[in-house]
Amino acid sequence: MSERVIPLVDLRAGARAITLPTTPARANGLLADTRGRPLRDLRISVTDRCNFRCSYCMPKEVFDKDHVYLPQAALLSFEEITRLARLFLGHGVRKIRLTGGEPLLRKNLEVLVAQLSALRTEDGVAPDITLTTNGSLLHRKARALKDAGLQRVTVSLDGLDDRVFRSMNDVDFPVAQVLEGIAAARAAGLGPIKVNMVVKRGTNEHEIGPMARHFRGSGVVLRFIEYMDVGATNGWRMDEVLPSAEVVRLIQREFPLVALEPGAPGETAERWGYADAAGRFDPALGEIGVISSVTQAFCHDCNRARLSTEGHLYLCLFAAQGHDLRSLLRAGADDAQISAAIAAVWGARSDRYSELRGTQAAPARQRVEMSYIGG
Ligand code: SAM
Ligand code: SF4
Ligand code: SF4
Repeated sequence: MSERVIPLVDLRAGARAITLPTTPARANGLLADTRGRPLRDLRISVTDRCNFRCSYCMPKEVFDKDHVYLPQAALLSFEEITRLARLFLGHGVRKIRLTGGEPLLRKNLEVLVAQLSALRTEDGVAPDITLTTNGSLLHRKARALKDAGLQRVTVSLDGLDDRVFRSMNDVDFPVAQVLEGIAAARAAGLGPIKVNMVVKRGTNEHEIGPMARHFRGSGVVLRFIEYMDVGATNGWRMDEVLPSAEVVRLIQREFPLVALEPGAPGETAERWGYADAAGRFDPALGEIGVISSVTQAFCHDCNRARLSTEGHLYLCLFAAQGHDLRSLLRAGADDAQISAAIAAVWGARSDRYSELRGTQAAPARQRVEMSYIGG
């Protein structure tokens, strides 16, 4: 049996060369990893650059003027991304999330959105296409993105108080412009809009109440994310994590909440609905979500793959290494070979970092930065 190895051309974050399987894979959407988890969600990072310097993600001291970003030629082109996305759909992906870095910094992103939204699964199903953004450029881009076929957006927003917000993005960016972006997204029909707030104890926990009050009954789903130990630069400490259970308790002091059924399988957020006077969920008041990746791991049904800006496939947010799909693309591998490579990589996946965090079994290794593989 002969195996062909296409050598690595780029060693950033130490991607592994992929050994091309000798037998083709059936792209019937039934792929499963070693723990029986299917592949449903593909997060694609379209740039490693960002105009914010959130300390939990791209701290200024590390991502300073001397930081070397990927050169343009290293980035996957829109055609390369779309080709890979089509092959991923064959293996069961139903949701594509564009992320970064700040995805709206990638020039002509709407062209990519148009290409992705023309994709169909074998039985004619269009993928769900969404985008995570810091919202800074959304007021200018929302309409073009919607026209290109984007369905929804998630906007990251860590507080409403301008002083707190400016200090968390660490580039003195005003909160009003992000709120304007959210309004533009709503006007363009990019809904339902989700707002993600990373909660850091001692930094923005006092913004939980104002954020809940602001978005309750607005049609926007506010989600609180536990501060995570992603990457190696944010100086993460467990005592800065505010457990989601505390967030829910805090909101419940003001507004009664009722637990809602989970969304789709593999959904990261636990859902809580605002209750009416009779204690029943009132859809007009809406819901919140809590994402408890630290205190309540959800690896058991994690169906997410991540494609880095330069085409490395990551199987976990906390992985140390990706698998180099770009080399296969650029070495002229055909669709069947790349599809088989994706199947082989996912088929061997056993990652479950959050379940192992803090135990002896947790891998002690350098982890890739979130700005590079996307959240
Ligand atoms: N720049 C875009 C944004 O901020 O929405 C997209 C990329 S960002 C890496 C994706 C998401 O990851 C954001 O919602 C951000 O708040 C979240 N994130 C980044 N670092 C995090 C950390 N250490 N813990 C929890 N969430 C984090
Ligand atoms: Fe930029 Fe998003 Fe990271 Fe903040 S979380 S630094 S906006 S990539
Ligand atoms: Fe998925 Fe890795 Fe997060 Fe677990 S730690 S939920 S496997 S991305």
